[in-house]
Amino acid sequence: MKKLGIIVGCRPNYVKAAALVKEFERREKLPFAWYIGVTGQHHDDSMSYNFAKYFKIGQYIQTSFPYNDHGWICDDYTPAVQLSSLIYKADKIIQPGTDAILVLGDVDSSVAAALTARRMKIPVYHYEAGLRCGDMDMFEEQNRVIIDTLADEFFITEQSAYYNLLTKSANNIHFVGDIMVDVLMEELSKDIPRNFDGKYGVLTLHRAENVDNPDLYWSLIETISHLQMKIIYPVHPRIYKKFHGLAGLGDIVPCEPLGYSDFIQLCRNAQIILTDSGGVQTEAMVMGVPCITLRDVTEKLCTIEAGGNYLAGTDPIKIEGAFNIMVGRAGANYFLLPRGHDGKAAKRTVDILEKLLA
Ligand code: UDP
Repeated sequence: MKKLGIIVGCRPNYVKAAALVKEFERREKLPFAWYIGVTGQHHDDSMSYNFAKYFKIGQYIQTSFPYNDHGWICDDYTPAVQLSSLIYKADKIIQPGTDAILVLGDVDSSVAAALTARRMKIPVYHYEAGLRCGDMDMFEEQNRVIIDTLADEFFITEQSAYYNLLTKSANNIHFVGDIMVDVLMEELSKDIPRNFDGKYGVLTLHRAENVDNPDLYWSLIETISHLQMKIIYPVHPRIYKKFHGLAGLGDIVPCEPLGYSDFIQLCRNAQIILTDSGGVQTEAMVMGVPCITLRDVTEKLCTIEAGGNYLAGTDPIKIEGAFNIMVGRAGANYFLLPRGHDGKAAKRTVDILEKLLA
């Protein structure tokens, strides 16, 4: 029986892995064996262990570095040293006898595992292949291009990915849709009472280009604090460490990163979401909550086409203008969900995996 290794390192990877695990469990017999290998890239419990626990995937993690392995992935290291430590870890977590590895998206753990697997002559399957934002200064964009260069099979989430994979054989490109949406739809189907009242927005920020330059970061925070709406801001641990906590932010209410369920409840009842996250742009669209993306470009083109996402960049005037436009759309709930955003993406993905690993 063939064996698939699924590589997980960061918060969104746990959400994607959860969708696949659920589908694996649903099928009585799978024609291949599989395991999850964790690199520990996100080592804070709030970004890793708590997600594995919530989604009940810990039992499948066969090879892992401790989630809180600060010795290996230290936020103070340069990006290149962090990446090299992930390559070291990938070498340890890819088990002997693995027939293919599946990497989930564009994080450093994915590129480290893809390169390591190729050195071991193990085929690479890229879930979320073909997405591009066109900004090669972004680490995630560099990772996307490198993984797609190395990969053998391409699982794509939206139409735009086809055009970015034109040099690949169509036989290796599989339109499966977005598995994070499967997890989201299941979460939304739960009848959980709202735990946040009143009118508020939600902010998430963590992209290096927005948070590594203190002048830009504080300009964003200041602009958002003047939008005349309470803005709840689950702060990425990286930023807490960098700026030693957060104080005096006007209308912004900072908090620890939230667990998945709490975060989704917070977002679904929000008037507006401001973010630089990839996953949150999609989730906002599916929940019908207007989204302002604090970047000049996005790889999630389908969210723009759907009408729910406004690319405002980081200029204060543009952000204020975007806020005034998008907040008026709160509750309109007219966004057209793109193809593949239907809660059945994991089923389509596992159907393909069954064929590839038969
Ligand atoms: N998320 C969460 N708690 C938070 C912020 C985000 O559970 O406080 C979830 C969010 O719902 C989404 C995922 O984390 O499923 C997105 O992760 P992130 O923004 O870190 O990564 P990206 O999508 O940008 O790669």
